[in-house]
Amino acid sequence: MPQLQSHSYYITTLGCPKNEADSRAMEESLQREGFRPASRPELAELHLINTCAFIESARMETIETTLTALAVREKKQPEQKVILAGCFAERYRENIPVDLPEVDFSFGTGQYHRAGELVGERFGRPSAPGIVPFPRAHRKGQVHAFLKVADGCNRACHFCAIPGFRGPFRANTRENILEQVRLLADQGAKEIALVSQDTNNWAAPEKFLDLLEEIRTAFSPGWIRLLYMYPDRRTYHILEGIARRGIDVAPYLESPLQHTAPHVLKAMNRQGDASFYSDLFTMARELIPGVEIRTAFLIGYEGETEKDIDQLIAFMTAHRLERVSCFAFSPEENTKAAGTTPHPETAARIRRIQEAHREVQKDWMSAKIGEEVHCLVDSTSGSSAVLRRPQDAPEMDGVVLIEDAGDLRPGDFIQVQLTDFHEYDFSGRPV
Ligand code: SF4
Repeated sequence: MPQLQSHSYYITTLGCPKNEADSRAMEESLQREGFRPASRPELAELHLINTCAFIESARMETIETTLTALAVREKKQPEQKVILAGCFAERYRENIPVDLPEVDFSFGTGQYHRAGELVGERFGRPSAPGIVPFPRAHRKGQVHAFLKVADGCNRACHFCAIPGFRGPFRANTRENILEQVRLLADQGAKEIALVSQDTNNWAAPEKFLDLLEEIRTAFSPGWIRLLYMYPDRRTYHILEGIARRGIDVAPYLESPLQHTAPHVLKAMNRQGDASFYSDLFTMARELIPGVEIRTAFLIGYEGETEKDIDQLIAFMTAHRLERVSCFAFSPEENTKAAGTTPHPETAARIRRIQEAHREVQKDWMSAKIGEEVHCLVDSTSGSSAVLRRPQDAPEMDGVVLIEDAGDLRPGDFIQVQLTDFHEYDFSGRPV
């Protein structure tokens, strides 16, 4: 049985990049209280699982991960405390003690920054508090960081439970964002991805652009990336402003459309329509050289037809969308869509979209072979290395693999020639 390290913690993070940022906030708080990271879950006194409850598959992943953690504890570390944090813990606060009684403690999304105090009060504090600069927003050895510019959401998409448990939209202040950017630069981060539930809502477009310019000045020469840009007029103006002012941000647009059929978008209470989305993406391609687009679709909403899927595929193909995720609609409690029924053909429709997208993907990826691209080294192992292009978001998109890494180190920027691709990833060689 491995030796338990007193007052140590291990965090397992599920879900989206926003959870990554929240896990960093938890880690910061734990270290301020004097807790120390363990290298493996079975060595830790506290195993915290930062959960997700966005859709059914995310909930299942949370439950399975929790059950696995409890089984590992029983076999290898009976004194360990298993703790649930985040969205699932917030949403099922009352059910957890009944349905998962072996879980020792749970706390919700508003408490990440107090994780150290909460577990300290509950299970005992280390004798000496830690001295950690605030915030330690990226993991040791990791070259990218997710920086939350806001939390919560005021939009009321009928399928979405997030506003119910994350609360209304609250923007982080300009001063706090810039302070975090400076700290990340000092800590050696090479990429900052701005995240939130609704990033373009941080401020009016011109103010948002001012913020981007200030981040650019404070964080050079690393990459700045925008994630979760709602496909509306604000995103349109922000992209147009980035081009007009010549702000150096990664040529990347992540904008979840959810659907393209007007009646489905209306039923979902989403803004925009296929014609506006088409203008948005066309403008992005015209104004931002080399831009690549990621979107997400929610499939199987009540009223969706096969013809809607044909149109969605036609849209996706016409705009050559580089990255597409499909999620199956599941009616969530406390949402307007709670009483509706997912279409029985949802899984088949998703397969159809994914198959069509595979062709789009093969097409654009094969067109890139032979190109020389600027890459950031994410990690190295022996003589090989994992890199990303500015068009590849960390932990979401594909990577560029090289075999002849030489003395490259994480955080280096190099020119690479793309030589081949497999599924989502390129292979290449240093130029
Ligand atoms: S924009 Fe819609 S889908 Fe996104 S978090 Fe807000 S309510 Fe949910």
